[in-house]
This record gives sequence, C-alpha cells and structure tokens, in this order.
Amino acid sequence: MSERLREKLSILADAAKYDVSCSSSGSDRKNTNKGVGNGHHSGICHTYTEDGRCVSLLKILLTNHCIFDCAYCVSRKSNDIQRAAFTVDEVVELTMNFYRRNFIEGLFLSSGIFKNADYTMERLLRVVKKLRLEQNYNGYIHLKTIPGASDELIHEAGLYADRMSINLEMPTETGLKLLAPDKSHKDVIKPLGFVQNQIVQFKEEKKLIKSVPKFVPAGQSTQMVVGATPETDKEIMYTADAFYKNFALRRVYYSGYIPISNDTRMPVLGTQPPLLRENRLYQTDWLMRFYGFKVQEILNDANPHLDIDIDPKLSWALRNLQHFPVDINTAPYRMILRIPGIGVTSAQKIVQARQFGKLHIYQLKNIGVAYSRAKHFIKCADTPFQMKDFQATQIKAFILAESQSKYLKTATNQLILFK
Ligand code: SF4
Repeated sequence: MSERLREKLSILADAAKYDVSCSSSGSDRKNTNKGVGNGHHSGICHTYTEDGRCVSLLKILLTNHCIFDCAYCVSRKSNDIQRAAFTVDEVVELTMNFYRRNFIEGLFLSSGIFKNADYTMERLLRVVKKLRLEQNYNGYIHLKTIPGASDELIHEAGLYADRMSINLEMPTETGLKLLAPDKSHKDVIKPLGFVQNQIVQFKEEKKLIKSVPKFVPAGQSTQMVVGATPETDKEIMYTADAFYKNFALRRVYYSGYIPISNDTRMPVLGTQPPLLRENRLYQTDWLMRFYGFKVQEILNDANPHLDIDIDPKLSWALRNLQHFPVDINTAPYRMILRIPGIGVTSAQKIVQARQFGKLHIYQLKNIGVAYSRAKHFIKCADTPFQMKDFQATQIKAFILAESQSKYLKTATNQLILFK
C-alpha cells in the first residue's frame, strides 16, 4: 500500500468512527460464480459489541470533505482538519485486499458531501457496482444514503448494497435546526420512505418472478446522536418508535455525543459521553422490539426520562406493582417476559418446562433466571414470601444493594443490555 493511501486510510477511517449505525445483520447474500466473499457465512452477523457497535467491517468515508457545517460532526466544513478523499478504485482495491487477507468481513461506506448530494451518491454507487460486477465481491456492504440524492441513484445503489442507512442525527427537528441548519428531517424521511417502498415492491415482484433481484436485503437503519441537544428520553424513543413503525427499520442506533468542539450550543469539551444513558436507550429499544412493551408504557409525560440507576424493565415493574407477583406456573408468556430478571430465552424455557410439572426455585435458577432480581416479582411452587409486603422503593433498594453495581462501576466501559 502506498504511503498516500495509508495516510488517506488513517484519516477517513478515523472520521468514520463516529457513525455507529453499522450493524451487519440480516444479509443472506450467497457466494455466486466462484466470486469472493459471502455475506451469509462470513460470521459478520454476530459481530456486535454489547452496546450496539459492531466490528470487522472496513468502515471508512469516501471523503471527509463536506459542504455542510453540522456542529456535532468532525467533518463539518468549518473544522480545521486534514482532509482526504479516496478514488472509487482505491476503495475497491482496499476492500478486496482486506477481504482476501481476512482482515474484514464487509464494507461500511459513508461520505461527507462534496459538491452536492448526487455527485457524492453517484461515486458511492460506482464503488458498490465495481465491487459486485467487476470484482464479483459477494461480501457484506452497508452503504450510506446521502440526504438529497435523487431517487434513481438510490434505487440503483439498493440493487448492490445489503443494507442502507441514513442518519437522523438529532431526534427532533428543533435540535437538528439548531446544530445542522442545512439539514431537515424531511431530507432523511424521503429516502427512507423511498427505499422502504422499493423493498416492499421488490419483495412482491419476487413472489411472482423468481429472477427479480434483491433490493437492500438487510433493510435500513438510522442513528440518533444523544446528549448533544436537550431532548428527553421520551422524545428520543418516541421518534425511534415512529421510525420503526413507518419505515420498518431493522435498527435504530443511539450514539452518545462525544464533545468535539467548544460550541456553546453543545456540552463543553471534556464532558463524558452519556454511555449509561445510551445503554438505557438500547434497553428500551429491546423492550419495544422483543419484549412486547409499548413505548408509552416506559416513557410518558409523568416519566420523560429513563431511570439511570436501574434498567427500564425493572423501572416499569416497580411503577406497576399491581401486576405482580406473577405466577410462573400459570401466567401467560407475555407476562413472564415482563418479570425483571427473566429474558426471552428463560421465558421460553419456563413455558416449555412447566408443561411437565410445577416449577421450583432451583429449576428457575437452572433455567438461567436472575433469581435475586426476579424473586421480588414472582410466585412459584416454593416461593418463600409474598412481595406485597414491600413498597417499590424498598424493592429497588434491595436490588441495588444486592447487585454488584455493575452498571455504575463500569460506566465508562461497554455495558450489558439486561441482567
Ligand atoms: S452532512 Fe454529514 S459529513 Fe457533512 S457535516 Fe453534516 S454530518 Fe458531517
């Protein structure tokens, strides 16, 4: 690799690190025509870190030149930084070289906007087209949609990319206007809607005609920056909920704002990124997607912020003690899912196991239930006490005292989703 290419790689990989919307799940692209790579079997489907960031993709910007001046972004035009731009061929060459050496399992390609949206999108499109058509590359590709790019270019890109994403950045229009006056939510919503319609259309056509190609098979995602503007958790999660429903997004990512400048509109330099808050938002997101919770149950006018001390499922349970204790041996699956200390896998095992007899404490522990937490909310065959003897504040205090304060001690490290 030439010295100049190495330098570009260091600049443009560093500039891309702030984008966390790079999950690689959901692709089933197979290796065809004895090509290179395989989005299905390469192992990238499970390369998440616990807080949603993923690894093993070549994650770069095509360029960090940008005509916009979004205050939260290192690539903004007013920032005095080293700039660089890859050529189309350089990105293709890097991807193929790294893939062949097993350094990466896919490509995540984003870009600052140079000249205009279409000019940039057209170059991104050329990269993915070359990889697929000339290099016969079948590995995973996550491509950023450039806000304002024309439908024709987005349509063509969708035929080659596995996943596409476009970042909402600020959860509310007011927040976006404050920090990125050149942008609007409309610029994000329009392409998301267009891609979603195309995904549905292609799927319908494929049912009738087998040869119809896949279109963005791994779906779309978006990212919101958390903590740069004063939105509440309620505003953030209501926006996420609406985006999940309206655009069938695979994922919404929440990225704690890392101060990068002394802009008076945002937290000052040196402020710690809100990692614990970011983790609570991911937990809420999981409750909505996998645990059957409605966002309004967790966040509402009376509770616009998530409790930082405890996870949102425990927080909901403590506010709704009238639903507890839940009888493990008779309750419906959806209620078992709502018990703190019981995850999806444990809930499924409980429902299966109880068909063969009443469950006791030792069996719940064997199943994987976090019993020290769950015991305050359940009844089983040998339950030693009744939860109704305690108030929510007492239960919370018991649980906090019994826990190893894992969240708080590791607040600056990566965090677990549920305990
Ligand atoms: S348009 Fe994108 S790359 Fe450009 S300044 Fe805004 S966030 Fe950064």
